[in-house]
Formats: sequence, C-alpha cells, structure tokens
Amino acid sequence: MTSYLELSSITKSYGNFTALDNVSLSVEKGEFVTFLGPSGSGKTTTLMIVAGFEKASGGSVQVGGRSISELAPHERNIGIVFQNYALFPHKTAAENVYFPLQMRGVSRGKGLRQAEEMLSLVGLKGFGHRHPKELSGGQQQRVALARALVFEPSLLLLDEPLGALDKNLREQMQIEIKRIQRSLGVTTIFVTHDQSEAMSMSDRIVVFEKGRIEQCAAPLDIYHRPKTSFVAAFIGESNLIPATVTNAASREADNPLLGSFEYAGADNRLTDGQAVTLLIRPEHIKLSRNPVEDRKNVRMIVDTVVNYGDNALVIGRAGDIPMRVRVLGADVVIIKEGEECCISWTPDSVFVITK
Ligand code: ATP
Repeated sequence: MTSYLELSSITKSYGNFTALDNVSLSVEKGEFVTFLGPSGSGKTTTLMIVAGFEKASGGSVQVGGRSISELAPHERNIGIVFQNYALFPHKTAAENVYFPLQMRGVSRGKGLRQAEEMLSLVGLKGFGHRHPKELSGGQQQRVALARALVFEPSLLLLDEPLGALDKNLREQMQIEIKRIQRSLGVTTIFVTHDQSEAMSMSDRIVVFEKGRIEQCAAPLDIYHRPKTSFVAAFIGESNLIPATVTNAASREADNPLLGSFEYAGADNRLTDGQAVTLLIRPEHIKLSRNPVEDRKNVRMIVDTVVNYGDNALVIGRAGDIPMRVRVLGADVVIIKEGEECCISWTPDSVFVITK
C-alpha cells in the first residue's frame, strides 16, 4: 500500500549544481514530519517542490495515490506558512483567514464565520477585527496558521514558521502548533534548523545533508541509533571515537588510545577488523575522581567547564581524544579546569556507527 504523501526519486538541478539528489520519502496521513539539516541541504527546495512553487528536474510527488506533479500550486489544496507570515496588511485578521475561502467561492458571511472559528482554534478569539500591524509577531503567525488551515488542506507545509520569534514565544508556539495539528489530524511537513524543535514536535525527522536524505526515523531513534556520523554529530551533542571491531560476536571494539570497549548495538552487521565510529552521548558518561566499578573507565584532563546552573558541560581530552561530558545537579562543581578525573560508562551507552 502506498503512503498518503509519496516523494519518489526527486532530483533538482540548477545548471550543473545538484540541489536534490534522488530524494524519496513516504509520509502517512496525519503524520508530523520535520525536515532538519544544515543551511543549503535542500529542505526548502523539497518543500517548494511539494507545494508546486518549484518544478523537480525528475521524480514525482503523489498525494492520496494521485500525482500532483503537473498541478499548479493553487490546485494542490496545500496550506503553507512561511517565516515572514505574508499576511495582507490592509485586510483584518478575519479577512486574511477568509481569503483562501473567498478564492474557493465561499460567500463572505459563511467564510468570515469559518474564519472566526479557525481564529478561535489558534487562540485568537476576538482578534478577527484587528489588522496585522495591531498584532504581535506570535499572533500574526497564528493568523497565518489559521489561513493555511481554514480550507481543510490535504497537507500543511510550515517553512521555519517560528524563526522570527523569541525563545519563549517560540516554545509556546511549538506546543500550540502540535496541539492544533493533532486536533485536526492534518498531515504536516515542518522545516527547521532547530534540532530541539524537531525532536520535541515530530513523529519522524528527516535529516538532509547535501541534497540527500541521511536518515528518516522517529526522534529517539535518530538520537540513539543514528545511521551516520553526520547525523550523530548534527543531532544533540556527541562523542565520536574511531575504533576497530575486535570481536563482533562478543561486541568488542578497540581504540589504540582508550583501549577495548564493549558496545550494545550497531547500525549494521559488523565484522572483525572493521573500522567503525563509536558514539557515546555526553549525558551517558559519568565523571568521578576515582574509577567506578563495573564500568569502562578512562582518565580525562579537563580543559573547560561550561556551567549552566542545573548542569554543566565538561570538555576535556582522554588520551588526546576530545571528550564532552554532561554533568547534572550536585556533581556540577566537583571538578575544576586543568584537573585530571575519571570518566566511565557502561556498554549500553556505546553505539557503533559504520558510515
Ligand atoms: P536553509 O536552511 O538555509 O533555508 P535549505 O536546506 O532549505 O537551506 P535550500 O534552500 O533547499 O536549502 O537550497 C538547497 C541548495 O540549492 C542550496 O545550495 C542553494 O544555494 C541551492 N539553490 C536554491 N535555489 C536556487 C536557485 N534558484 N538557483 C541556484 N541554486 C539554488
């Protein structure tokens, strides 16, 4: 069975530059999928091809089993919200939200009633008569969201919609957008640079790099079982240690400076002698003065302690390998810069990446 939204082998070239290279993706009805990746990795281009504002050089886009590749943007029944809101300044909030209904031939009376209902769903009950300049950035973004949803689109596309908002408002809007998306069950694609936003909002995250999909998986899978070193380094903080598999059957690997490691899992089948990368997240490492029993212990020289109040990031070197350790609560103050300490972990915290 095909999924609700199917991107099949999408390519996009600008002259001889390849912006998208064979991008394929299936999205289920009602899913919230986030495109995450560095600047220039192809997130917006992919979104614009789905919206119909860009034409793919190759491949196809299907929604509900039908190709939309040949349809004009306004024929696709897709709601879109951009970072810069793009509200009509001379129309009121309600008239802005009514606009897509007007384009679809809905009468003014009925359309404005629907617009008011949608405004109340996005938390703007009673604001319909205001013009955009009489609304805050967050409120304007809610109007843009209401306008994108009022005609019951088959897809909702959000391109960095919270990029212009300050941190608190941004977090509040993340929760709101998620609530509204769930209550309507609308299939959504969200583009962001912000990994914590992607982690907290998405059913699945698609990580883009250089016009390709590096990995597409649920947020916690992406975090704990990254398929490539790029994904591991891009999402959250990571320690990446080069190693050689010494005994795949008993899950052992070796780094010449840190010695032998046991690991719990790997992204692939491993063979003895294979060169791999070991991932250990900073919050899975324990920092202590003395070695801890039943754990892999190595010595670390502390270079920098970055204190955040309830936690600290300790940056140092273990056998010349840069290491980062996240220390919580009371442990925060025990080690000073320049000191030597022990860092330790259990095999559960070690994940092997082959690419
Ligand atoms: P950002 O997070 O900065 O918005 P992005 O991941 O959305 O980045 P895209 O905007 O999709 O990246 O761009 C992908 C690549 O295609 C970039 O290298 C960009 O420079 C290139 N590109 C996009 N539009 C054009 C164009 N009209 N002509 C030439 N190159 C383009």
